[in-house]
Amino acid sequence: MAVLDKIVIANRGEIALRILRACQAMGIKTVAVHSTVDRNLKHVALADESVCIGPVPSAESYLNIPAIIAATEVTDAVAVHPGYGFLAENADFAERIEESGFIFIGPRPETIRLMGDKVSAIAAMKKAGVPCVPGSDGPLSEDLQESITVARKIGYPVIIKAAAGGGGRGMRVVHTEAHLANALQLTRQEAQGAFGDETVYMEKYLENPRHIEIQVLSDQHGNAIHLGERDCSTQRRHQKVIEEAPGVGITDKQREKIGKICTDACKRIGYRGAGTFEFLFDDGQFYFIEMNTRIQVEHPVTERITGVDLVREQILIAAGARLSYKQDNIQFRGHAIECRINAEDPDNFMPCPGTIDDFHAPGGPGIRMDSHIYDGYRVPPNYDSMIAKIIAHGENRSAALARMRVALDELVLQGIKTNVPLHKWLLSDPGFLKGGFNIHYLEKRLAEREVD
Ligand code: ADP
Repeated sequence: MAVLDKIVIANRGEIALRILRACQAMGIKTVAVHSTVDRNLKHVALADESVCIGPVPSAESYLNIPAIIAATEVTDAVAVHPGYGFLAENADFAERIEESGFIFIGPRPETIRLMGDKVSAIAAMKKAGVPCVPGSDGPLSEDLQESITVARKIGYPVIIKAAAGGGGRGMRVVHTEAHLANALQLTRQEAQGAFGDETVYMEKYLENPRHIEIQVLSDQHGNAIHLGERDCSTQRRHQKVIEEAPGVGITDKQREKIGKICTDACKRIGYRGAGTFEFLFDDGQFYFIEMNTRIQVEHPVTERITGVDLVREQILIAAGARLSYKQDNIQFRGHAIECRINAEDPDNFMPCPGTIDDFHAPGGPGIRMDSHIYDGYRVPPNYDSMIAKIIAHGENRSAALARMRVALDELVLQGIKTNVPLHKWLLSDPGFLKGGFNIHYLEKRLAEREVD
C-alpha cells in the first residue's frame, strides 16, 4: 500500500475544505493550491502549505495542469485530490498526474475517458447489464433518413444529446418528425461550439422521470459496494437544488437490485474509487443516463444515512487499501436532506457576489454545514455561486425536514443575497413535503408562483 502522507487539494471552496478535513483526521499533510483572489479561503489558512497557481480566471489557475503538477512536485506531495468540477473528470489531467509519478485520487484515466463520452459510457454500461434509456445504438450518422428511422422506432418525444455534453448543456427535445432535422443540426452545432465534438445520439425523452442516483465505492482488488440512492429531482435548469437520501418510495428490493447492478458494473470495468451512477426513474424502472467519476456535491446525505466518510474512503482506495466495508456492513439509518446555499438573487437567480458581513452557522442535533465562508469573507464573482451546504438528518423525512427548517431560520448570512428564501418556501410547499415528485416539479412551482 502506498503511503499518502501529503495530498494536494486541487480545488477551492467548500469541497477543498471538506477534503482538508478528511486529510487532517487521517493525519495526512495538505497542500492548498489557489488562484490569486483565493488567498483568503478558509482551507488555504488551515492547510500545511499553500501554493498560488495562477491568476483569477480558472483556465489559468484551477484548470492549469502544469501549474498544479509543479505545485505537487515542489511540495513533495504524493497524491492529488481533484474534488468536483474543474479537472475532476478530465482524463488528461489524471493521466498527467500519474505519468508524473503521483497518485490521482479517482478512477483510472481510461475509465474517466470512457465515462466522459456519453455514447461510450452507455455502450459500456449496456454491455455490463445496466438498464439504459431506449435510444440510438451509438452516435447518429449524418444520414437524416437513418435518424428518422431511429426516432420512429423509439417513438416521440425523443431527446438529441451531445456525446461530450455536460452541465445540462447540449440537449434538445424533439416532439415531432417535422422538427427532427433542424434539432439535429442545431444540437450538432452547439456541441461543436461548446465541447469541440459534434457527435450526438438519441434517447427516448422520458416525460416525467425522477432523478435517482446510486453511490458506489470500488477498490483496486475487485471489491465494490453501493451506498444506496439519492433523489436529486429538485432541479432548476438541470441543476440540483435539494438532494435527499433515501428516495421516497424506493423499496429495499429496488435498492438492492439496482445497487447490485451498479456494483457488478464496477467490477466489470475495473472501477476505482467513489462514483455515481445517474438514473432517470420512471414507472418503477431505472434508466442509466451517465456516470460521474468523482465525489459529488450531494455526497453528505449518503454519509449521514450510512455513517461512511466517502472522502476518507476515496483516499484509502487510492492508496491501494481494500474497502473498509462489506455490503452487509452498510446500514441505512433515517433520512437526510441537503440544501445548496447559493450567492444568488432568490427571485431571478442571478449570482450575487460580495462581502459577507455577518455570519452565524446553524447547529444542533442532526445538522451539518459544509461551507468555507466566514464573517468578512468576500465571495468572488469568478467561480460557482454555491457557498454552503446545509445537511439535516432525522429518524425519518419529516424529522429531517423539521430540523432543516430550524437550521435555515437559525442561519445568519448578511451582506449578500442568497437562495435561502427559496429553500424556506420549498420546505413549506405541500407537494415538496409529500416527496416523490419528478424533475420538473420545482420549475412548475416557480412558474405558478410567478402567476400568483
Ligand atoms: P449532463 O451531463 O449535462 O448533466 P445528463 O445526461 O445527466 O446531462 O442529463 C441531465 C438532465 O437532463 C437529467 O437529469 C434530466 O433532467 C434531463 N434528461 C437527460 N436525458 C433525458 C431523457 N432521456 N429523458 C428526459 N430527461 C432527460
